[in-house]
Amino acid sequence: MLYIHKRRTPDIVKRKTAEIINTPDSGYSAICLPEDTKQLRSLFEKMPKNEIREALYKEQHGLCAYCMRKIAPQYDSMKIEHYKALSEDKERALDYQNYMGVCYGGEKDKDEKPHILCCDAARNERKLTINPWNKRQMEAIGYRRNGEIFVRGDKGLDSKLVTDMQKDLDEVLVLNGKKDAEGKVVFDTASKLVASRRSIYQSVCTQFERWDEKKCLTKSFLKEKINFLEKQLQGDAMAEPYIGVRLYFYKRKYKKLEK
Ligand SMILES: [Zn+2]
Repeated sequence: MLYIHKRRTPDIVKRKTAEIINTPDSGYSAICLPEDTKQLRSLFEKMPKNEIREALYKEQHGLCAYCMRKIAPQYDSMKIEHYKALSEDKERALDYQNYMGVCYGGEKDKDEKPHILCCDAARNERKLTINPWNKRQMEAIGYRRNGEIFVRGDKGLDSKLVTDMQKDLDEVLVLNGKKDAEGKVVFDTASKLVASRRSIYQSVCTQFERWDEKKCLTKSFLKEKINFLEKQLQGDAMAEPYIGVRLYFYKRKYKKLEK
C-alpha cells in the first residue's frame, strides 16, 4: 500500500455532481440512508465514470489503491471505490475526493478453492481505519520476507491504531490471504498477492547479491535506485506493480548501509 496524493476534482466531475445535487427531479434531496442506498447508487451510476477512472488511474500511477496490482482505466479493469461507503455517507457518494481506483480483488482470477477475495471485493461496505491518503499511516507500512504486508509498530503510531490498521489489512481487505490461528498464511488470495510480494523480495535479494559481487552496492548507488523508483510515483508517471515492496527493502538496506 502506498501514499496517494489526492488531486483536485476534475471539472467535468464537479459539474455533474452539482447537477445531480441541484436538480430537484434527481431525487437526491429526498434520499435517506441506509434505506435509499439503491437510489443513491443509481445516481452514482450517472457520474462520468470514464473520466473518474482516468483521473484515478493517473493519480495512483496505474496501481490498485489497496494491493498495488496493476489496474487500467477501463471499466473491466478498475472499480471506483467509495472510501467512505456509499451506503453510509450521502454527501460523499458523489464526491470525487472520496473515490479510489481499486482492482477486482480476484473476482476475475482463476477459480481456485478456496477462492479468497481481497481489496474492495473482500471489504464490501465495511468501515476502514487504514487510509492510503494518510501519509503517516502509509509510512508505517512494511513487508516481510514471506510476502506479508504489516503495520510497523516503530513508526510513532498509537498502538491501538497499529492494531486496527493491521486488522484492516488482514480481515477487511484480506491482503494477506487466509491465516491460521497462529497467524501463519495458509492460503494466498486468488490474486496471488502474498506470492507476488514474496517474489519481489526474492528479486531484491538477488539484486543485492549481484551488486555486492560487483562491489557497487554503496549508499549513493542505492540512493539512485530509490530515486528511480520514486520518480514512478510522481506526476503522471506509471509505476511498476507492487513498487512499495521493492522500495521498502531498498530503503531498509540503505538504512543499514548508513550505519
Ligand atoms: Zn487490489
